[in-house]
Amino acid sequence: MDYRFLLQNDKYIKDEIHLIKPSSGHIRACAIYPNHYDTAMSSLGFHFLYESLNAWPELSVERCYLPGEKSIKLVCSKYLSSFETATPLVNFNILAFSVSYETDFINVLRILKLAKVPFSREERLAGGYPLLICGGPATFQNIVPMYEIFDVFSVGAGEITIGTVVSKYIELAGQRKGTSEINREIMRALGGADNFFVPSQCASMKGSKIVRCAAPAENKYAKTVILTPHTEFKMRALIETVRGCVRRCKFCMVGSCYGRFRYNPAEDIYKYIESVLTHTRKIGLLGPAVSAHPDLVELYKNTRERKLDISMSSVYINEISGELIRMLSENEQKNITVAVESACEEVRNAVSKNLADADIFENLDKALECGIKNFKIYFILGLYDFFGKSGGDEAGDTAAFIARLEGYLTRRRPDARLKISINPLVVKPRTPMCYAMPQNAGFFDFYSGPEYITELEARYKRIASELKSSNIEFSEKNFADSALLKLINECGVNLFDFFDDFFYNESKNSRAVIKIMRERPEAFDPAAAAEKLFAVDFVN
Ligand code: SF4
Repeated sequence: MDYRFLLQNDKYIKDEIHLIKPSSGHIRACAIYPNHYDTAMSSLGFHFLYESLNAWPELSVERCYLPGEKSIKLVCSKYLSSFETATPLVNFNILAFSVSYETDFINVLRILKLAKVPFSREERLAGGYPLLICGGPATFQNIVPMYEIFDVFSVGAGEITIGTVVSKYIELAGQRKGTSEINREIMRALGGADNFFVPSQCASMKGSKIVRCAAPAENKYAKTVILTPHTEFKMRALIETVRGCVRRCKFCMVGSCYGRFRYNPAEDIYKYIESVLTHTRKIGLLGPAVSAHPDLVELYKNTRERKLDISMSSVYINEISGELIRMLSENEQKNITVAVESACEEVRNAVSKNLADADIFENLDKALECGIKNFKIYFILGLYDFFGKSGGDEAGDTAAFIARLEGYLTRRRPDARLKISINPLVVKPRTPMCYAMPQNAGFFDFYSGPEYITELEARYKRIASELKSSNIEFSEKNFADSALLKLINECGVNLFDFFDDFFYNESKNSRAVIKIMRERPEAFDPAAAAEKLFAVDFVN
């Protein structure tokens, strides 16, 4: 292993504070996040996986991340190893991946390649390699490109699935079975079981139905279990505050894939905060719709009274009370987010956003009165085309609407600042829009064409250019990343078919990866990819 890689690990390890005691059993499991350390340690899903594995005394749990670009070259000639003890990944029994984003599937392949774990399941079984498990939100997306790679996809709630796999592994290991035999038996046992998709146990995904159960009695919410200064959160203890969403926006997988909205009880949040206070006073409340937590005002008030530094993700102005906005503004939170999505009210209604123009301006007034001066507003381009409006009007309408918002704000508060984030519409599998797409022939043709993202990027540039003389700030947007996300969601073949090119080109650059993938246009088809996916039934 490259000494620079190890030195960097040592530094990170030295700076970490562990909030749970690692287990030290005889079965070796490695929790892997297919991206770099800072991204991994910012993911509550990864902390959840690490904590859940450590709850089993029979396991000994370590972590692994994607090495930095410089280290990748050097690691190539060795075996990629665990973060804590530099044990080669091939020496573990279980490699459990937490994959949040589909684009990180490419990094899963990088990690396996560096670890010298074969891509072929049969080769792994023949050679006694570890069991490969994939969990995380990406299992809801297009997993066709990873169908041949993972032994088990954990589709259900982690509270159930991690325990199911681990207890089975312990049972089989107790019978003194060999690695390959254990792995084969686990695949057989979980094939067809609720909450799991096991590729080796079904002829194809199409026609398979997975029952995805939410946790039985109560959810176990994710929280930071290792504090580190080496992430954007810098020693902030994060706690999952809500799961799912109260809304069902038609483009969003949160609304359609996480089942009913649930929230972490306030007393459990307080208990967690209490437990971390000896190490940090920085707390973060996380979730897709934190503003919908029924006790949010009380939570915020109590933590502020205790002089804690508290932050929240996704504070949507249209969801929160004037009282909370006032508290936020009194406590340095001078930014507020408004997810407008489209300049056109009719489109917002069609997407189930249900936000009238009048509501938007009323909400801005509410925030201004409370002393908020920084506004971040989100838009999605491509919605016009989806809902049958002229795509040619989308850029002009959006620019005009943004100018109207800015004028409204600055007339009332001259130092108000507007930041705009614009994303292209990428239709995610299992969302209402995805199911409606085959009937939407006009949009489907546009979406399937090679110029889709390029056209939306041109609209984005037109909006930015029309507003360039204003003080409006635009969030940096890399349309190539969106194009790659779209391609992976449409990919109908194994991702490793392309992999030698990705890997040996050392290409991190989305445009280069896209170029390689586009050399096989027949491998991509949005309708065909969605068709191949297993169906999911939710039990909440
Ligand atoms: S876009 Fe936001 S508000 Fe809409 S369903 Fe998704 S998480 Fe909820």
